[in-house]
Parts: sequence; structure tokens; C-alpha cells
Amino acid sequence: MTAEDDAVVSPGREDEVGRFGDRTVNRLVSEMFPQRPVAGDPPPLDARVRPPQPGARDPRPLAEWDTRPRILVTNDDGIDSRGLLSLKQALDPIGDVFVVAPETNQSAVGHAKTFMRPLRVRRRTLADGSRAWSVDGSPTDAVSLAFLGYFDHGFDLVASGINYGANLGDDVTYSGTVSAAMEAVLNGCPAFAISQEFDQDPDFALAGRMARLTAVNILEQGLGPGELLNVNVPATSGAVHEVAVTRMGKRIYQDQLIERLDPRGVPYYWIGGPAPSGEANEGTDFHAVVNGRIAVTPIQLDLTASRLLGRLRTWTWELPPDGPTGPDLAGSLDRP
Ligand code: MN
Repeated sequence: MTAEDDAVVSPGREDEVGRFGDRTVNRLVSEMFPQRPVAGDPPPLDARVRPPQPGARDPRPLAEWDTRPRILVTNDDGIDSRGLLSLKQALDPIGDVFVVAPETNQSAVGHAKTFMRPLRVRRRTLADGSRAWSVDGSPTDAVSLAFLGYFDHGFDLVASGINYGANLGDDVTYSGTVSAAMEAVLNGCPAFAISQEFDQDPDFALAGRMARLTAVNILEQGLGPGELLNVNVPATSGAVHEVAVTRMGKRIYQDQLIERLDPRGVPYYWIGGPAPSGEANEGTDFHAVVNGRIAVTPIQLDLTASRLLGRLRTWTWELPPDGPTGPDLAGSLDRP
């Protein structure tokens, strides 16, 4: 909106806008609204950095918390996901829950953070009438927003999910659900991700109970720096009673590159194919879930390959001299 626009909509000034030239209108407007820019001036840098908020409080038995824990709930399936609402409702009894989630489905965006455009936040009402906020960005954006001072307080726990589909083994590297929990951990707040094996018409009741149990455990026991929990619930919720503490398994992806033609006859590509399988090694998250148990996997942000670390130190790391590749090295690469 320009200064002239402002003048036009200001009550009682319509006639003056009509009578005076642009320059006079600008002067009038600047007298009425001294903080407003005059047309032609550069726009004001109307920006501020929000103050950072305190980190999570120390873990201790819930009975000893002086105020209720503050819990941030997010997901990657989007603000309208039933799984998100189930998670929020499951955690309501143990803390003050704030829901901040992506506006649209962000599954498999990983740990993407939006830097090249602004973010818009909208106040929302969930299906149960409770308040929430949506962000037109990634799960990581939603968590960043909450920790960088959108609210005037910090959080004691972040819960991400309940994802519509399991996040087992290598899935973690794609998962927006798990990445949201990672973003919380980067901000010094304990977190967990919770996902449920794919089902056409999922019932999130069991996953909700598991989410509450996991939240209480983390709030009371705490997690170390860089640590988070990845929880996966089987789809066969009726028969499940057992929880297994597991390690990350190995996924077997069955992705296919589907080629089709657009209306102009130009091919386009879509990555699809059957759902991933996995190696059913005992002790893994995949093994537990395919055998009808809930898997709780501790994961960490430190991705150092410890076994390779020692071997890597035995390799030659002496840099060759600067300049064109020497004849010896070139010769050694010239094998058939
Ligand atoms: Mn998802």
C-alpha cells in the first residue's frame, strides 16, 4: 500500500486527496503519520530479531514439576493430519501443548530449512476446536520458529508425528518427522518422533498411548545432548502390547523411475514404486515392527562412522604438490 492509498482510506481526507497534488498529499500524510514513509522514500527496515527463549528444564519426576511441561507438537504430514491431532490429544493430560506444523504435507523433505523466501504463519483451529499454528514451510521451519522466539517461552519437549507410515532404518535420512525432532535437539530440547506403519484407515489410539508413555519417560529421565528417540508403531494395533528397544535396521527400497508424457508430449518423471521392505535382522526396528511390536530406537546427531575412523587414519593423507597432476599419479589412473 502506498502513502496515497493510506490517505484515500483515511476517514475525512478523501476530499483533500482530490484537491491537492501528489506532493501535497505526501506532505499531509507524513504529518498525519510521521512514522510512515513518504512515497518515493525507500521502504523502512521494519524488522526486529525476536529474543531467544530459555531452553528445556531439567528432567525430574512429573510430580515435582512446579508448572506443567511445555510440549511442542509438530509433524511432516501437515496441520490437517489426523495423526497430529491424535498426538496433541495424547499429550494434553501431561503438559501445555502447542501445535506448530507445516501447512501442507512435507513428507520426505528431510531436514530442509527455508532460507530463500519468507515464512508465513497462520493461526489455525484443529478439528477438536483447539488452537494451532501452521507454517508454509518444512517441519524444521516449524520447530525453528518455535525455538527462535515466535512464542515468549521455551519448550521442555518436542513430539513429532504421529506420522502416517513407518520411519524405520534408513527412512530416518528422508524423514521430515524425525528431522523435526532433530531440529529440537539442535536447539537443546529433548525430542522424539513417532510413526505408525501404513494402514488405509489408521487407528492412532495405541500410538497415542505410546506417545504419552514416551513423553513421560523423556521428561522424567532426560536425554543426553544430541540424542533423540524414534518410535514406530505397527499397524496391527489391536494385538500389540510389547515395546522393544531396538537399533536402526536396513531398508530395502524398491523405487522405480516412472516416465509419462505431459499434454505436450514431453516426458516427465515420477519416483514411485512399491513400499520399501527391509532386512529382518533381530534387534532392529524393522524386525520389531514386522513382528507386531512397537520399536523405540535411540538415535543421535553424531553421524561419525566410528569403525571407519581408525581405518581412515591409516590411509595416506599427504596432499600432492600444487599444480598439474604429476606423471606418476596420471599413469596410475591410466589403467584399462
Ligand atoms: Mn509423513
